[in-house]
Amino acid sequence: MLKRLLFLCVILCFNASLIGEIKEKASLDELRQRGIPVKSMESAGVSREDMEKYLFFWEDLKCFPVAGQMNAKSATFSYENSWHEKRYYGGERFHEGCDIFPEDAKTDYYPVLSMTDGIVEKIGWLPLGGYRIGIRSPGGGYFYYAHLSSYAEKFCEGDEIKAGEVLGLLGDTGYGAEGTRGKFPPHLHLGIYISTKEKQEYPLNPYPVLQFLQERQKNFFY
Ligand SMILES: [Zn+2]
Repeated sequence: MLKRLLFLCVILCFNASLIGEIKEKASLDELRQRGIPVKSMESAGVSREDMEKYLFFWEDLKCFPVAGQMNAKSATFSYENSWHEKRYYGGERFHEGCDIFPEDAKTDYYPVLSMTDGIVEKIGWLPLGGYRIGIRSPGGGYFYYAHLSSYAEKFCEGDEIKAGEVLGLLGDTGYGAEGTRGKFPPHLHLGIYISTKEKQEYPLNPYPVLQFLQERQKNFFY
């Protein structure tokens, strides 16, 4: 009797894990169908649960966030997957974003573009982010562009923004009181957040988003 029960138990467990696997495969297929680059998300270390969260704004994504020279022979910008690397300014913390560096390290030169349509939700100085602007896309993604050297115009909270619109110039502001510059090499820090039940600002890794947009946008120009 005990043997039989054990046998039944093994069969049930086996089925449960098999069903789990099939379900997981189906949901990955669905994500693929909806445009999520599952493979590059996996290699960037994004969990399946998080992959679903990108769906909120996936259709809003239109534009790589920095513009470079037309017909540039080689990549003008570089960025790496630095998700959750340690950072120390303002106390030990994890990097919640992706940094895009111009290879010639120019500041106050390269336009920063809005990746999506949206509404200006936050604007102004932050000790950590310098001159930053936060845009909420129609699907609910919050796109945070930091360390700008200047703004393209006098934006106000509530202003409407179009994808590809110039927000400001890439810079090196932040890590101090308003106006602080030059504490690190010029770069755009890009953060992407969504609101969930548990967390008002749930951070998602922008790296696979940047890869996705860069592959689709061959010419950078200004
Ligand atoms: Zn950063």
